[in-house]
Amino acid sequence: MAKVLLESVSKTYPGGFKAVDNANLEIGDQEFVVLVGPSGCGKSTTLRMVAGLEEISSGNIFIDGKRVNDVPPKDRDIAMVFQNYALYPHMTVYKNMAFGLMLRKYPKAEIDQRVREAAQILGITDEQLERKPKALSGGQRQRVAVGRAIVRKPKAFLFDEPLSNLDAKMRVQMRAEISKLHDRLNSTMIYVTHDQVEAMTMGDRIVVMKDGLIQQVAEPLALYDNPKNMFVAGFIGSPPMNFFKGAIEQRTGALWFVEQTAGDNSPKGFSMRINDETAKKLTSHVGKTVVFGSRPEDINNKQHASFAQPDQTAAATVEVVEPMGAEIYLYLNTGSHTFVARVNPHEKADVGQKLEMAFDLRKSHFFDAQTEQVIV
Ligand code: ATP
Repeated sequence: MAKVLLESVSKTYPGGFKAVDNANLEIGDQEFVVLVGPSGCGKSTTLRMVAGLEEISSGNIFIDGKRVNDVPPKDRDIAMVFQNYALYPHMTVYKNMAFGLMLRKYPKAEIDQRVREAAQILGITDEQLERKPKALSGGQRQRVAVGRAIVRKPKAFLFDEPLSNLDAKMRVQMRAEISKLHDRLNSTMIYVTHDQVEAMTMGDRIVVMKDGLIQQVAEPLALYDNPKNMFVAGFIGSPPMNFFKGAIEQRTGALWFVEQTAGDNSPKGFSMRINDETAKKLTSHVGKTVVFGSRPEDINNKQHASFAQPDQTAAATVEVVEPMGAEIYLYLNTGSHTFVARVNPHEKADVGQKLEMAFDLRKSHFFDAQTEQVIV
């Protein structure tokens, strides 16, 4: 197993498009790292450069301490699992899994042992080993694709959106299986997805990318609790963090956030007292425009919120009620901002109802409105 190191890696495609811009990333031996970001952010390109399927425009990649910039994919000793499985349709499952080893002239007995061991790990039955891929479900095919990677005992596994073609239930199941596989094989894994839930649930660490740039690298909860900028704050978490534009005002004894209103006819914006600890870091922003961020679970009807404080509420109208079973999403509008609160299913609300919503300011986030970087 191996450490993977990206050192100032960039990729400019022919035609001049810069898909990856100066990526620096150290992936530890046996670590499970997830690259996540919206479509086109450069995550697949990054993975393909590690695999050697894409040339690096500048920078260096090291696998297990060895610079691999000019090493062809087959000699990098890593295995890649693709979204479309990339199985050979005319070969049985067994042969699909064995093929790579056959090409490398492994002894028959060893191939057989490795294939059967991988099949057992993945719950592929002897009967399924004799079938062709088209006679398998999507989930089973993906297992075969993973099995083909396992038999090679590679230094690292690379996954490129491996679960995208599966239905929601199967995705959840395979997600858990890949996590278990990581625990069992103790191998380095780099996993690409656009799905932040997959990233949060699977990764030891998450790399958030946007427009070819790494935005933040952190453990899942650290990313959730301390996003570095508005992009990460809005991308990680579902429903996403709510943002309110406004100004910081000094009033007697405290700093306040004052909501910016949409126009002349909109209702007066809400004001909220900022907790002292937070305020200390906002003093240089008095009079400036900032963005206040609050997660849906940190907002609730004043009457139900254990965290409610009289000077930390906003009046809002309920626009949509989404019952999710274990919780309800309330979509609300202050007149200038829409936001969502995640509340207990017993705390019902009706569309059109006017509520006084309490915010948990102990968990507030403030961003610079111009740079979109976090202030506190
Ligand atoms: P997706 O989730 O949609 O696959 P991604 O984050 O994996 O997105 P990449 O596939 O890495 O993104 O692509 C990054 C950018 O590079 C995209 O804007 C894409 O259009 C561009 N790109 C990818 N391959 C090429 C290519 N061969 N030539 C030119 N541009 C490319």
